[in-house]
Amino acid sequence: MRTTNAVDTFENRIDYPLATVGAGAPVLARRICLVVLVVFFFSAIPGRASSNALQEVYLPFHDSLDFTKYSSMKNRLLDGYGAYRRAGHMHAGLDIKGKYDEKVYSIGDGTVAAIYDEFPYRTVLIEHVLVGGEKIYSGYIHLEDIEVGVGQTVDHKTAIGRLFSKSEHKKSKFYKNHLHFEIRKTMERYRGISIKCKTMEELNRYFYDPSVFLREHMKK
Ligand SMILES: [Zn+2]
Repeated sequence: MRTTNAVDTFENRIDYPLATVGAGAPVLARRICLVVLVVFFFSAIPGRASSNALQEVYLPFHDSLDFTKYSSMKNRLLDGYGAYRRAGHMHAGLDIKGKYDEKVYSIGDGTVAAIYDEFPYRTVLIEHVLVGGEKIYSGYIHLEDIEVGVGQTVDHKTAIGRLFSKSEHKKSKFYKNHLHFEIRKTMERYRGISIKCKTMEELNRYFYDPSVFLREHMKK
């Protein structure tokens, strides 16, 4: 007969048939024990679809628009994916106009993968697992007051930072106060890769067109 003591660890216990787990303990305690074991067992299976796979996608702004619909952002779009930049590179994301100090939200369930902390390019990258298992990264650039940390689990209700204030915008010298929003295929060279892509072929190696991505994953 086994007794409960310091060496009665989970590793020891797992070799016993489940029916003997916690024998002698009250019924409720035994049931809780079983549930914990079952949950642990299933969560440990590698490659199993994450419970926070990106099922639903929302706009990164919530103020004065229906953030469940892609079309409600149309008056805010400034510059698209692949636009030519005078510096000689292709634009890697969407520029979305916003109000001063406007909050920016994650587009959906994910985990903060990286933060780049240098004005005026403060960036949050969020890793999302698509329903089919593919990993993509949403990038939010030109943020201030970043409110999340690397490794943090987020959803579409998580404010990750805010757009520039009026004075920050002036200091940035950007044409309009905006969020630069990207959908990346990889974390590789996440700092500064946008300005190195001189052709659409190079751009498409690292990025998806965010407007295509949002249209495919959102309500019209
Ligand atoms: Zn941009």
